[in-house]
Amino acid sequence: MQLKNKYVLAIDQGTTSSRAILFNPQGSIITVAQKAFQQYFPNPGWVEHDPNEIWYTQSSVIKEAMAKADVSDAHIACIGIANQRETTIVWDRETGFPVYNAIVWQDRRTSDYCEDLKEKGYAARIQQKTGLVTDAYFSATKIRWILDNVKGIRERAERGELCFGTVDTWLIWKLTKGERFITDITNASRTMLFNIHTQEWDRELLNLFSIPSSMLPEVVSCSEVYAESKAPLFNSGIPISGMAGDQQAALFGQLCVEEGMIKTTYGTGCFMILNTGNKPVLSHNHLLTTIGWKIKDKITYALEGSVFVGGAAIQWLRDGIGLLPDASASEQMAKAVSDNGNVYFVPALTGLGAPYWDQYARGTIIGITRGTTASHITRAALEGISYQVDDVLMAMENDLNYRPKEIRVDGGAIANNFLMQFQADISRCPVVRPKVLETTALGAAYLAGLAIGYWKDINELKEQWSLDKVFHPEMKEEQASRLLKEWHKAVNSARRWAQPNEN
Ligand code: ADP
Repeated sequence: MQLKNKYVLAIDQGTTSSRAILFNPQGSIITVAQKAFQQYFPNPGWVEHDPNEIWYTQSSVIKEAMAKADVSDAHIACIGIANQRETTIVWDRETGFPVYNAIVWQDRRTSDYCEDLKEKGYAARIQQKTGLVTDAYFSATKIRWILDNVKGIRERAERGELCFGTVDTWLIWKLTKGERFITDITNASRTMLFNIHTQEWDRELLNLFSIPSSMLPEVVSCSEVYAESKAPLFNSGIPISGMAGDQQAALFGQLCVEEGMIKTTYGTGCFMILNTGNKPVLSHNHLLTTIGWKIKDKITYALEGSVFVGGAAIQWLRDGIGLLPDASASEQMAKAVSDNGNVYFVPALTGLGAPYWDQYARGTIIGITRGTTASHITRAALEGISYQVDDVLMAMENDLNYRPKEIRVDGGAIANNFLMQFQADISRCPVVRPKVLETTALGAAYLAGLAIGYWKDINELKEQWSLDKVFHPEMKEEQASRLLKEWHKAVNSARRWAQPNEN
């Protein structure tokens, strides 16, 4: 069968569900299948997944997406993988059985240990090598926790009997029945064990965290044929040829392939990632330096910042206080008033992420008067999402000395035209909404397809990438500056609210 009559299968293994999407040569979606899986919260602040359930849900949605399109293995040109990052799995090299549940990126059990590392002065060295802020978010301290807390595991790890992997590694191990033990370089760059300058696992960090190097997978690029899939999931071998962490895959799926291009995902949180070209830019503003992708021998670096509560602020207005019947109603509500009525909503419901990193900040609605209505509060919530994104953009601008020319967007909340327009107004740059919104899966598909010649090169992808709408700044600059000034006053009121009193 001709390559162009086939489809690319994208695996999008996320934090709450496993998805599979088939794309055609035009980069359009043919079918989607999705299955949620169980979240385990064994203690406050702990979050775990069952690695076997990740695999079962993933393999079943692959089958389902193919069945919906009525295609067999012969119709699949190649497979690309995008995955939740940092989540840590340790398994037995012989049997393939996990020795413990997957510890999810959100899990905070190693926070105290990270504080301790910072107090001992390791943070600067860790940032210099890995580009990361010392935090429980990343894999290193999670691996160490498993080695120290699961009985008999450290001895077995030292004997070389165990494998560590992020979710990409786990999936490719399962897809190849243990033949390939690899991770792609973007996932490696989120472990806090990988030196992003030398592109090697870092001995000094492995010693610091007491992790035997035999546990670590081989690091590979994001677009090359790694292996062929094995039975029983597939009867014929299909090349697995693309891999990247979800945010990096989305950056690629948005075709932010030139230096200075940026994408923002507006989901539960907001995730911004900016292509910095062949230079790793170490942040002075609490952003993360990471690898965007590696194609052939060329590495593209990125700068990243996350806002913890984005669309979740709207979810809270709906479910928490019943102000909205559904999330989409927020647009009409916000537009029903001509301005915010001087109300500001800082959605620090779980603290503030980049660039503040203030775990003690709390949600604050300020400026309420007798004239304040539900519309003002809804509008303030949507504006609060945009202001937070702008704060990260400002941090990026301070690190780079320029502001990106446009922001490409994805995620559930970009359906909201008010939010998009307000973002353009506040950030003084166009906001670009693409046609295909499944940018994470599309990025995985692109990376896989490029490796096997399904698509010739990035230029071919640029030709087919299309946009739905561009939002241009309309607000006067002085008004935007005035609003931002008030917003920062509101942020100051929200900060450190929940900090324990010292006396
Ligand atoms: P995730 O992948 O993080 O689960 P999604 O990308 O599916 O999130 O986006 C869902 C989020 O977007 C929810 O928090 C929801 O409140 C918000 N959302 C969805 N539609 C709208 C809308 N029209 N306006 C504002 N927020 C919205």
